[in-house]
Amino acid sequence: MKKEQLKTNFYEAVNGAWLEKAQIPGDQPSVSAFLELHLGIEKTLMALTKKWEQDPSDLNDNLKKFIKLYHMTTDFKQRETLGSKPFDAVLKRIQSLKSIHDLEAAFKDFALESVEMPFSFSVMQDFMNSNNQVLYFGAANLFLPDTSYYHDEAKKKQLLDLFTMTTKQVLSLYGFKAGEVDTLIEEALAFDALLVPVTKSSVEKADYVKMYNPYDKKAVLDRTKTFDLIKQAEALVQQDVDQLIITNPDFIEAFETIINEAHFKWIQSWMIVSNALKFAENLSDELRVAGGAFRRALSGTKEAQSKEKAAFYQAYNRFDQVVGLYYGETFFGPTAKADVATMVHEMIGVYQERIASNTWLKDETKDKAIKKLSSLSVQVGYPDELPPYYDRFEVKGYEAGSDLIQERLTMNRIIQQHQFSKYNQKPNKNIWSMPASMVNAYYSPTNNQIVFPAAILQEPYYSLKQSASENYGGIGAVMAHEISHAFDNNGAKFDETGSLNNWWTESDLKAFKQKAKDMIALFDGVETGFGPCDGTLTVSENIADSGGLRCALEASKKHDDHNYDDFFKNWARVWRVKSSTEYSQLLLKVDVHGPAILRANMQLSNVEEFQDYYQISSSDKMYLPKDKMVSIW
Ligand SMILES: [Zn+2]
Repeated sequence: MKKEQLKTNFYEAVNGAWLEKAQIPGDQPSVSAFLELHLGIEKTLMALTKKWEQDPSDLNDNLKKFIKLYHMTTDFKQRETLGSKPFDAVLKRIQSLKSIHDLEAAFKDFALESVEMPFSFSVMQDFMNSNNQVLYFGAANLFLPDTSYYHDEAKKKQLLDLFTMTTKQVLSLYGFKAGEVDTLIEEALAFDALLVPVTKSSVEKADYVKMYNPYDKKAVLDRTKTFDLIKQAEALVQQDVDQLIITNPDFIEAFETIINEAHFKWIQSWMIVSNALKFAENLSDELRVAGGAFRRALSGTKEAQSKEKAAFYQAYNRFDQVVGLYYGETFFGPTAKADVATMVHEMIGVYQERIASNTWLKDETKDKAIKKLSSLSVQVGYPDELPPYYDRFEVKGYEAGSDLIQERLTMNRIIQQHQFSKYNQKPNKNIWSMPASMVNAYYSPTNNQIVFPAAILQEPYYSLKQSASENYGGIGAVMAHEISHAFDNNGAKFDETGSLNNWWTESDLKAFKQKAKDMIALFDGVETGFGPCDGTLTVSENIADSGGLRCALEASKKHDDHNYDDFFKNWARVWRVKSSTEYSQLLLKVDVHGPAILRANMQLSNVEEFQDYYQISSSDKMYLPKDKMVSIW
C-alpha cells in the first residue's frame, strides 16, 4: 500500500485489493463486511436446519415447529401442485367487499392477519412516557421507495413502468385475465397516486420524533367520518381508546378525501395488487420469483434467491428469534457474552469521561448527559427472553389440509393479538427487536438501551486474532456509535428513562443544533461516485459515526499497545462495500446511513489525530482544515 494513496482515498487504499476481488453474489445487490458475515451465518444456519430436519428429536418445542414449517416450505412438489390456490383465502375475501362499509366490517380480521390495507394501527412505546404503550396510526407505504421518485417525471415514469411490467407478470401467474390485470394495476396506481402528497419523504421520516402527533378521540372522529377509526382501534385492543398517535398528520387531515366510497374500487384493486405481491413468496416457485422482480430491478439484484435458500428464509423469518437464540447460545456463549459486556461498559466509561471534559456544554447539561449514560441498559449476544408468541405458534402441515398462506395468516394473528394486547401496558424491555443471528446492532431511544447481537461479534469487527486497536476501530467504534445515538439529533430529545423530555439548557441546545447543522453541511452534496450524499437524511447516523469514532479512538489510546495505523485501517475496513449502481443510487435516496465511502473517508478526515498521524497536508484529498472539522461528542 503506497503512503500517498492513503492521503488521497484512504478507503480505497485500505480496501483496494478486496474491492478488486469481491464478487457481488447474484442474489444480492451488494457485498460488504456486513454481508460476508451474514453469508457465513446463513451457511451455518442452513446446514444446521438440514441436519435438524433429519432428526429433530433433541430440539426444543419452538425449533421443532420451525422444522415443521421448513418441511412445508421445502416441499416443492406440494407447492407446485397447490400453485396460486392458497392465495384464494385472501383474494376471495377482498373481492367480496362491495363498499367502504364492507371494508370496515372486515378490517379487524385483515389487521390481525397482516393483510395489506391502506392504513394500519400498531402498538409501540409512548414517546412521552416510555413505561406505557399506545396506539400509532399511519398510511400504507407507496409502491416506489421514496416520494422524491414521484416528483421527478422521468424517474417516475421509468419506475412505474417497471412496476407495471413486473406486476403484470405476477397477476397473470395468479390467473387474472389480461383485461383484469390492466384494470387492477391502473386502479392500484390511481390509489397509490392519492397517497403520494400525504406521504413523508425519507428525509422527513428521518426526523422520527415528528411521527409523534397525538390526536384525541374527537379530533380523530372529526376527520374520519368515512371510516370509524376509533371503533376499529377499540376492536383491536379490546379497550376504550381516547387517543391515537398519528405518524403522518397530512394523511389524517386528508383522510375523507382519500378513503371514501368514490375511491372504493381503487382501494380494492390496490389491496389485491399489494397482497398478490406480498404473498407470492409462499406460492409456486414461478410466483415467488416473479413477485420479487420489481424489488430486484430497483436494487440491481441480478437473480432471485435459489429455491432452497428462499425456502429456508420463508421458515426462518417466522422463527428468526428462536433460531437466533440457539445461534447465540451455541456459537457465542456466556464467556464471550461477559467479555463483550465488559468492553461495552469500558466504552460507556470513556464516553462519560469525554462528556465530563467536553468544552461546549454547561455543567448542568453535562450532568444530565452523564446520568443518561449511567442509565443506559446494555444487552449483548442473545436475549434473556423471547417474545411470548412463539410458544403459541402451531404448525399444522399439509397433511392437516393447511398450506403456507394459512400458516402465515394464523401466525400473523397470534403475533398481532400479542402486539395489540400490549396497549396500555408496561413494555418488556428484555425483548429484542432483532434476532441474535443478525449482523447488526441498535440503540432504542425509548428504552435507552443498546443491543449487540452475537452475529456482529466477528472479524473484522472483533476477533482475538486482531490487535486491540483493530478491535477498537471495529467493534469498539460500533459500540460507541450505538451509544452516540443516545445523543444524536433524534436521541438527544429523549431523557434517561426513554421519554421525550428536554434535558438541555437553552443555550446548550442551541449550540447542539448548530453543530448538527455543521454536520449536515460537512456531508451534504459530497460526491460518492453514484450521486451526492444527502446531509439532512444522514445527519443522525453521521453524528453517531463521528461520536463513535472519536470515543473508540480515545479508548484505544488508553492502552500501551495502541496503534493508530491498526485503528484507522480497521475502521475503513469495516465499511468496505461493493454495490450495484442501482442499489447505491437507491440508498442515497432512502438510507439514513451515510454512503460507506464517506463513513470511512469523511469521518476520518474529520479527526485531528488522523490528519496528524498520516501527515496529511492541504494538497491531499483526505485533508480537512481543523477549523472545518465538526466535533460533537
Ligand atoms: Zn446507527
